This record gives sequence, C-alpha cells and structure tokens, in this order.
Amino acid sequence: MSEDEAASDLASRFRRLIQRHGPMPVSRYMGESNALYYDSRDPLGQAGDFTTAPEISQMFGEMIGLWFADIWTRSAKPDAAYVELGPGRGTLARDALRAMSSQGLRPPVHLVEGSQALREAQGSSLGEAQFHDSIATLPEDQPLYLVANEFLDALPIRQLVMTTRGWRERLVALDGEDFVFGAGPNPMDDAVPEELRAQAVGTVIETCPGAAATIEEIARRIDVQGGAALFIDYGYLESRPGETLQAVRAHEKVGVFDAPGEMDLTALVDFGILAQIAARAGLAVDTATQGDWLTAMGLGLRMQALAQRSPERAAELKTAHDRLIGVDAMGALFKVMAITPRHTARGAGFG
Ligand code: SAH
Repeated sequence: MSEDEAASDLASRFRRLIQRHGPMPVSRYMGESNALYYDSRDPLGQAGDFTTAPEISQMFGEMIGLWFADIWTRSAKPDAAYVELGPGRGTLARDALRAMSSQGLRPPVHLVEGSQALREAQGSSLGEAQFHDSIATLPEDQPLYLVANEFLDALPIRQLVMTTRGWRERLVALDGEDFVFGAGPNPMDDAVPEELRAQAVGTVIETCPGAAATIEEIARRIDVQGGAALFIDYGYLESRPGETLQAVRAHEKVGVFDAPGEMDLTALVDFGILAQIAARAGLAVDTATQGDWLTAMGLGLRMQALAQRSPERAAELKTAHDRLIGVDAMGALFKVMAITPRHTARGAGFG
C-alpha cells in the first residue's frame, strides 16, 4: 500500500469509528495520526515536511555532546549511556557522540524510537545502537545522558474546551464527511487547575499526559542512576491556556484535519508544568531559550573555528548560526530544559 493510500485509509477509518462509536478525543486523533505518519516515512529535511535544528547544522549536536561531556567528566562515574528519544535521522546523536569522543567519552548508544522507517535511518548513520520501544527498557545500572529534540511536541495532547456548560473534553466529530471539533458530554471542570478555570467560552486548555509521564520517569531515573537530561522543543516556560495544536506538511502549516497520517501534528510544549514535575521529583531543573543557551555554550566560537578551517563554508555557517539563535528564527520560540541531580554541579549554559 502506498503512503497516500495508508493515510486516506486512516481518514476513512476515523470516519467509520466516529459514525459507529461517536466522536473521539483529540488525543486519540493525534496519537494515531502521528503513529502512522512517522512509521511510514522520513519526514525531515528539504524534501520532507520540516527541518529540525540538528539538520540545520552539526554545531547543534556538538553543543549537546559537550554539555554532556562537561557533566560526565565532573561526575567521576566512568560507565554511562548515551540515550536519545525520537532521534530522527540520527544526526544529533552522530554530532553529539563525535563531540563526546573528542573528550575521550565513548558511551553505548540507546535509542527510543517508534518508527521503523527512522530506525533504519538511525542505524545507518550511527552503526551500533540499541533500539527501545519505550523508556521503560532503558538500562537501569548506569548514569544516563539523555537528549530529546522535538520529541515531546509530537506526543498526543488532550484538549479541554470551555463551553456554556463548563469545561468539557474536546472531541473530533463529523459534520457530513468533514471532521469538526465537538465537546464531550461529561463535566471536566475538576481536570482544570483552579487558577485557569475562569475563561471565556471557546477557550482551549492543552495537557500532554505522555510528556508528563516521560519527564517523571526520566527524573526518577536520573535521581537513582545519575546522569543528566536535556529536552529541547518549541514551547513556553509559563503554563497558560490557549490552543497550539498544528499540522505541518511540506514546510507549510495546513489544517489539523486536512490529511491525518500524512502531516506532522504537534503542539507547543508546556515547559512550566514539566519543570514542576521534575522539581517535585527532587531534581535540579534549569530552563533557557535555545538562543541564550547555545550562545552561552559557545556556538559563536564554534562557528568561527569551523569557518577558519573551511573558509568556503563561512557564509553557510553564519546562516545556520543565526537560524539557531535568532529571536525571529528558532532562538526564542525554542526552549531548553535541563534535569540534573540536585547534589551535583549544574549543567553549563544556564547563566
Ligand atoms: N529529534 C529528531 C527528530 C524529531 S521528529 C530531530 O531533531 O531531527 C520526532 C521524532 O520522535 C521522530 O524520530 C519520531 O519517529 C519520534 N517519535 C514520535 N512519537 C514517538 C513515540 N510516541 N514514541 C517513540 N518515538 C516517537
């Protein structure tokens, strides 16, 4: 079956399901759409649907590798693992591992990846790596140096919507053949934090149970096993109401119902709540914008060093550098959240 047939199959299957069983939660629509989307293709790069920071420049992964190397060499624990969640093409891992190797660190590689298509790409760019379906099977007997770039934004969100009768779960319903948003029958006011409850009718609040569970488990692992984690994504540092679910295809924003399974569905990450979860688990949490963090990590110096070595690449390196840190590009919208054990020195780059 071709990609397009599989995807239109998904739209028809959703229609049949809704006709038979009634409207479905947004979380199910998003989860099943993305599972099919990622499993059937490599969505990254010019020819794909979107471009991520590691695909823009090797410097991005290098900064992450050096951040890990700094904490690791101060920790006096020789055996640790490199872990990545949703590693895409394996580009970030390759660049980070090369930077770590320049500091004498060569950890075993563990990748949590749901997509068969992307596992193949990661295997060919990295060579030896162990694949996991979920974080549950990651090693338990050594520190973990874990990174996830643009992973949390792809996890299914749940939406709640304010109606004239109070808060309800937001559902995907049908109007004829067209998907439309609807509201569930049960009162959901209890699920909304008290300080957010008073909102105008139509206001949407998003939560991401998968992201919350991921952060709680990773925080627990780092507390017990040692290591450090970096989560990088577009999102906000203070929890707030508002709808952020979006669909992207061929580098353009499209409607969230346009083509389930053929477009990337994402939502902004609520780093405010995720930082609270990690802090509540007893870990140290640092956050910054991507622009500030990369600048503090020495992205500018790295750019100059690479440009000196290959002057013909100077302009290209400058463009990549500006795209990664520029306030109008990725620098302000993208955030970096670090989780480290409370009793060790904090990671670099957070001021
Ligand atoms: N980190 C990469 C790719 C980002 S795209 C980069 O920055 O280029 C999102 C990645 O997360 C893909 O590798 C996708 O297959 C993976 N992914 C999405 N949802 C997942 C899930 N529920 N479980 C495991 N991997 C998932």
